[in-house]
Amino acid sequence: MNIKHILIGLEIHIELKTQSKMFCGCSADHFGKKPNTQTCPVCLGLPGALPVPNKKAIDWTILTGLALNCHIPKVAKFDRKNYFYPDLVKGYQISQYDQPFCLNGWLEFIAHKENCKAKIRRVHQEEDTGKLVHEEINGEKCSLIDFNRSGVPLIEIVTEPDINSSDEAKKFLEKLQQIVRYLEVADADMEKGQMRCEPTVNLLIEDGGKDYYTPLVEIKNINSFRFVQRAIDYEIERQLKEFSENRIVKMPGNKTTRGWNEKKQGTVLQRTKEEASDYRYFPEPDIPPFIWSENDLNAFRKDFNRFEMPEQLEKRFVSTYSLKPEAAEILCREKRLADFYEKSVLLGLEKKITATEIANWLINRKESLSSLSPEEFIIKVGESKNYFSLTEEEIAALVEPILKENPKIVKDYLGGKTQVLGYLIGLVQKMAKGKADPRKVQEILKQKLA
Ligand code: ZN
Ligand code: MN
Repeated sequence: MNIKHILIGLEIHIELKTQSKMFCGCSADHFGKKPNTQTCPVCLGLPGALPVPNKKAIDWTILTGLALNCHIPKVAKFDRKNYFYPDLVKGYQISQYDQPFCLNGWLEFIAHKENCKAKIRRVHQEEDTGKLVHEEINGEKCSLIDFNRSGVPLIEIVTEPDINSSDEAKKFLEKLQQIVRYLEVADADMEKGQMRCEPTVNLLIEDGGKDYYTPLVEIKNINSFRFVQRAIDYEIERQLKEFSENRIVKMPGNKTTRGWNEKKQGTVLQRTKEEASDYRYFPEPDIPPFIWSENDLNAFRKDFNRFEMPEQLEKRFVSTYSLKPEAAEILCREKRLADFYEKSVLLGLEKKITATEIANWLINRKESLSSLSPEEFIIKVGESKNYFSLTEEEIAALVEPILKENPKIVKDYLGGKTQVLGYLIGLVQKMAKGKADPRKVQEILKQKLA
């Protein structure tokens, strides 16, 4: 018996960072706010309240769809997804069923140094639910509901099961996060719940010359990239074991939900999933369908074209600033760092600091840039450049005699007492009258000692 193929599909919810909620004027910025202070009759689902769609949220959903190479159908509509849960005030969620805003895209990403590609089934728009908080008050366990999150715009992205390992899943999510941050439509911080991922996992197992699919499992309750990986790896092992023990195979339309349990570091059965028809989807009667004209579709495309996506930016950094592709990739991981870099390069021109020098500084010094403006950063680089005037060869020339004159310390170091390195750096600096870059001194010392 062996695993022939691992099939992983991802369902991802991302909160858009619009000012207001999806169907009302309440603030959408709910994180850390006092419970139930950002609500109104619409997002509390009071009788008679009517939803008014947020144009920006729809534009951003389509923008994300375009970045994920999706087709934008001419007609789209909202539907009601009916289910009962205390955090869902209306008894239904306004979502999209058979006519979402974006269909059939794909996303390329790099995992285990190879180019991978996963098909995107759809990108649709919906509203977030309220949040249940479980607490103990006066010794009594109770559940409280905070509706500040109720009605916050979400995009849901669904992939085909084209992902084949937990590492690929993580890389896919990182790429997706990078894209929505580049588009400036979401912060997509998993720890804050702004990006939530539910992987579906099953296996194709070969046994005695025959192929079997294991039952499809959806994993919920994951709040970090690390746990996505762990939960998938756990689930692969669990399914293999379960199949070898009882040979249960996949049934069409059947899906089981398991929750990731951080304490147990495993997945735990939650429920056997209701099928799509259980949600009794029907068109949202309070919001007419969207019928895009040729002009509308062109405007969406034009809006998307204003953005420079990570790969384009990397290529431009390589050609404009003669950076190595690896350096450009690191600088472009975060849009903020890329912007900081470009501003610094411009400022560095006057001080004769090259684009490569600035790149090296940003990549090697893991300095916190949050407290530094590009102006301050360039002053710092300029100062240290003039100040640390010794070249690597000159430093090496100082290092060698010092090592020869201190055989005991060298022996200590080689014996594992690495803390003596500081003493050696001090000796070199004394000879260099402080004109040697301590980072370089340390590097050269380590090389020579090795
Ligand atoms: Zn509201
Ligand atoms: Mn959803």
